[in-house]
Amino acid sequence: MQKHSLQSITILGSTGSIGVSTLDVVARHPDRYSVYALTAHSKVDALAEQCARFHPQVAVVGTAEAASALTALLKKAGLKTAVSYGPAALCDVSSAAGCDVVMAAIVGAAGLPSALAAAQAGKKILLANKEALVMSGQIFMDAIHESGATLLPIDSEHNAIFQCLPLDYARVPDSHGIHKILLTASGGPFLRRAVESLADVTPEEAVAHPNWSMGRKISVDSATMMNKGLEVIEAHWLFGAAADQIEVVIHPQSVIHSMVSYADGSVLAQLGNPDMRTPIAHALAYPERIASGVEPIDLAKIAELHFLRPDFQQFPCLKLAFDALRAGGSSAALLNAANEIAVEAFLDRKIGFRKINELIATVMAKIPSTSVKDLDALLEQDQRARDLANSLITS
Ligand code: NAD
Ligand code: MG
Repeated sequence: MQKHSLQSITILGSTGSIGVSTLDVVARHPDRYSVYALTAHSKVDALAEQCARFHPQVAVVGTAEAASALTALLKKAGLKTAVSYGPAALCDVSSAAGCDVVMAAIVGAAGLPSALAAAQAGKKILLANKEALVMSGQIFMDAIHESGATLLPIDSEHNAIFQCLPLDYARVPDSHGIHKILLTASGGPFLRRAVESLADVTPEEAVAHPNWSMGRKISVDSATMMNKGLEVIEAHWLFGAAADQIEVVIHPQSVIHSMVSYADGSVLAQLGNPDMRTPIAHALAYPERIASGVEPIDLAKIAELHFLRPDFQQFPCLKLAFDALRAGGSSAALLNAANEIAVEAFLDRKIGFRKINELIATVMAKIPSTSVKDLDALLEQDQRARDLANSLITS
């Protein structure tokens, strides 16, 4: 029988879509993984149930009130999990000596400090929280290299690209005859709609993704295609690829999760059912392969795969993201912050769908990009963009 060392894992954002899928895979392999810490912002009941099932050493929530509610639930169930709360506690559980692997699955900028703490502590980081890398780019990658941490992509496209790249690639432009990264996109729920018809779409329509079941923020990002824009920037940092070496291809079936095109004309693709348990299992066990609970694809049943070029007129957010990548400096952080505020306002029915890209464009035009050397400077730029976006919404 094969022997594995037991790895202990912190799941940041365990009650979310990625968090729940991660626990599903972990539960299939009790011989390989134990849970060190679980975290949730406010879903105390769900977190208490996860504690009863996975017995983490620590559970972290957002506020003191949530912490006392969770403590009461755990006490009632006779569980020994310690409870803490707040941003510093998230950094503690992602850098603790007792944890080997950190799944970064908090949504948005709120996940940056804890993901960065894991990077600085030299952990094996499974990165779902793309906003953290989009915001912090060089700072994050420097932390990875300085500490010797391992960074594995969970985003299905980046996980696919990682699987299609040579094992020993360094940077995409430099070596191995890599021509381009082909980043696939489903096109989201509004792919076949005229852009002029989208002014009055509701949050419910926008979050109804044709292929993937995900959290609300990323679902809206998929409808605007800002998600693909963030992923272009994410690919730049993960694989060292310039903007011109990343091509977005719309592929409505979401069967091919992305591709790498080589100088000799070969294109390598990774295919699978649209289920995040595949990239999660891949990254958890890498370089081994383990069962994820995902069925193999039935190609004859899928029958056809389609591809289209994206239209920047129809998806202005995609263009804004390419512009931010080319501009460099704090541009991507400004883009991300404005987008987070705009998406939240759209979900709260304060602005219409078409205002999302307008708001981001205004913020990008009004705040000059600066070079950001550390987390404090970065968070200052992030806050400036949020303040401006919020004032534009209220005015
Ligand atoms: P979700 O909304 O379902 O879950 C978010 C998690 O983050 C929850 O556990 C929540 O408690 C926690 N959280 C939210 N705000 C927080 C805060 N301020 N402080 C601490 N914790 C907070 O989101 P999701 O769909 O699971 O996505 C998580 C991340 O993974 C996002 O960055 C998303 O872009 C990325 N991602 C998701 C998918 C997917 O299929 N869901 C695919 C690729 C990438
Ligand atoms: Mg993705």
